[in-house]
Amino acid sequence: MPTESRYPKIDVPNTDLWAFLFERNDRPFPDDKIIYRDADTSRFYSYEQVKNTAIEFGKGLRSQWEWNKGDVLALFSPNCIDTPAIIWGTHWAGGIISPANPGYTADELAFQLKDSGAKALATQKSFLNTAIEAAKQVGIPQDRIILMGDERDESFTFKKFTSIRPISRIQRSRRVKMSPKEDLAFLVYSSGTTGHPKGVMLSHENIVSNILMLKAGEAGNVTWNGGIDGKGDNILAFLPFFHIYGLTCLIHQSLYTGLTLVVMPKFEIEKFCSIIQNHKITFAYVVPPVVLLLGKHPIIDKYDLSSLRMLNSGAAPLTQELVEAVYKRLKVPIKQGYGLSETSPTTHTQPWELWDKTIGSVGTLLPNQTAKYMSPEEKELPIGQTGELWIKGPNIFKGYHKNPEGTNNALTSDGYFKTGDVGHQDKDGNFYITDRVKELIKYKGFQVPPAELEGLLISHPMVNDVAVVGVYNKDQATEVPRAYIVPKPGVEGSPKTAEDIMKWLQAKVADHKRLRGGVRFVDKVPKSASGKILRRLLKTQAQEEEEKG
Ligand code: AMP
Repeated sequence: MPTESRYPKIDVPNTDLWAFLFERNDRPFPDDKIIYRDADTSRFYSYEQVKNTAIEFGKGLRSQWEWNKGDVLALFSPNCIDTPAIIWGTHWAGGIISPANPGYTADELAFQLKDSGAKALATQKSFLNTAIEAAKQVGIPQDRIILMGDERDESFTFKKFTSIRPISRIQRSRRVKMSPKEDLAFLVYSSGTTGHPKGVMLSHENIVSNILMLKAGEAGNVTWNGGIDGKGDNILAFLPFFHIYGLTCLIHQSLYTGLTLVVMPKFEIEKFCSIIQNHKITFAYVVPPVVLLLGKHPIIDKYDLSSLRMLNSGAAPLTQELVEAVYKRLKVPIKQGYGLSETSPTTHTQPWELWDKTIGSVGTLLPNQTAKYMSPEEKELPIGQTGELWIKGPNIFKGYHKNPEGTNNALTSDGYFKTGDVGHQDKDGNFYITDRVKELIKYKGFQVPPAELEGLLISHPMVNDVAVVGVYNKDQATEVPRAYIVPKPGVEGSPKTAEDIMKWLQAKVADHKRLRGGVRFVDKVPKSASGKILRRLLKTQAQEEEEKG
């Protein structure tokens, strides 16, 4: 029998995100509540300011660029307090947001712009050259690039859209209403279980439901004086807004619940500590490598982090050792959550009061979802046995963009999503993720699709065959990608060759995809009779090598 969530079922309203956030009758905080605060400057947005700016931006899109329902705006920016208004302004005008990692090279960005069919692009000045180059590659005119953030430039400006006088009364007053189940709010990119990045189609209903599910999970209980709520919690936002974790858990949750989000464009440990101290941060979403720093880094002792009530780690496995080290040092509890781009994202979180009783668990199933564990033959397993996790619920994506084959492989006809993650659950409904059956490598929470690196490396003149796998590096609390390479005949598999190949790749990919796990030369890449790389075998080999040191 599949497991049903133990939470009471929630009513997911049949509204689009705009109505859900800005036309609600039950908002528990005032218009002037500050929601987004820039960590570096005095800039901020109150609830009312975000709403008004979004409307102006949406009007600008329609009057300047004849924005139509379903048009895609790509976001290519580090975290910025202008991002929320740009997102909802685009929704106001009927559009879809496709966020991209600002570390991308022009080729990587161009791939996403083309695949998503983006009509325009929003970025910041430091990223403008890459944005212009990528836009050129796919035929987006230069005047369709908007600058956001502090460094605004009148020739490309976000202001151009927020101060424009609408050309007609109709455009002025009417927002585009979206069909919550059918229309997309976001097109985020994930490699899923295999291959290259694919556009994950997330509807308005997906995000609305996930905000409510997350709210139930973060409510805490009386022993914690509640979880996070709009009555004084300050949340630190350094997790990227271009990833679904940042989009839903940070941008949306804060505006729905009335939390103040202190926005950091980039993670730096000292800055992280000083912001916690100066802004009296009570809660933050983190990833395991940050937990590692909190447990070990000497700088931490210089700051007062006592305002923290809880941290939540997600995006990659968190060990018990790390949780305990941080608690011992700082008395800050850490709970864990789990989810995927395809699930909008959060499917599980540890209840606040159970953080120290179920360490290692990713928590319990959030409301309105059903889950089961499946054998490799796709037979349902009894509770307690280890298998692939499948999940069903209103937060499950609609499919991969323009990719029916990928969609069919990921979604079953009765609505289950095959996560590609392996684990089990205990008798009390606590879930554990212990492995992956999918190809994906995660470096510090960022996706590294092995197929993408293999596709590039095979074109290197010294490479005859290649497989890339992830190996867990304990010192950094993350997986790192390692390439197993068969050199071309006559090429010496020397440290110098390895270095040349790594440098060559580095110039072609975003920083998080670098071969930090190194290159190993082999006589052949292990493959099945049908020619599929035997990744499991290589992964075990890589881990053994790593442990030997
Ligand atoms: P993404 O789509 O980028 O959010 O990546 C989703 C993947 O991250 C999942 O399929 C897992 O493999 C991994 N992941 C997320 N949260 C956790 C967690 N708490 N423990 C282990 N793996 C996780």
